[in-house]
Amino acid sequence: MTAQEIRNRLECVQGDITTCSVDAVVNAANTSLLGGGGVDGAIHRAAGPRLVEECRTLGGCPTGDAKITQGYNLPARFVIHTVGPVYRNGRHHESALLESCYRNSLELAEQHHCRTVAFPAISCGAYGYPLEEAAEIAVGTVLDFLGGHDRPEKVLFVLFDRRTCDVYERVVTRLTG
Ligand code: ADP
Repeated sequence: MTAQEIRNRLECVQGDITTCSVDAVVNAANTSLLGGGGVDGAIHRAAGPRLVEECRTLGGCPTGDAKITQGYNLPARFVIHTVGPVYRNGRHHESALLESCYRNSLELAEQHHCRTVAFPAISCGAYGYPLEEAAEIAVGTVLDFLGGHDRPEKVLFVLFDRRTCDVYERVVTRLTG
């Protein structure tokens, strides 16, 4: 597969991830997996209460790791819950942990035969990760994974606001152009 073919399996869109009709949406969860604010709260509200019931059986999730559940009332079949690092000063393994969120989520998606996966900007809200750096890790890790795997066929970055979407698009151009 050429670099251009890999790049064509990636797309940045501005929008609300809870409305995405994909095989799996990724949730920027916290270690309890029991719901929170931001995109986590939006996913739990849209999925309905059976989501937190299933999450309660999982026993939480360490930072950098990922776990999968059903999507319940979401258009997505699965939710992949991953826990991004809280950004402190960049010297607490934040970049390695953020990279492992993307990699572990993609591995779970592949194991569950997902063709399409949507990611939010993990750690870029309440967890305070600098946007440019986070986008570089997100795009770089996904491109690297897609280069070595046929599934997922397509990865969407679903960014809530215009500014975040613009940054992601620039990073995609820089890393693939
Ligand atoms: P974290 O705690 O990992 O930083 P947040 O949910 O606070 O997670 O923020 C992560 C990103 O998700 C932010 O860019 C935020 O604007 C975005 N976000 C919030 N709600 C949604 C949504 N419904 N769909 C997509 N992205 C969202």
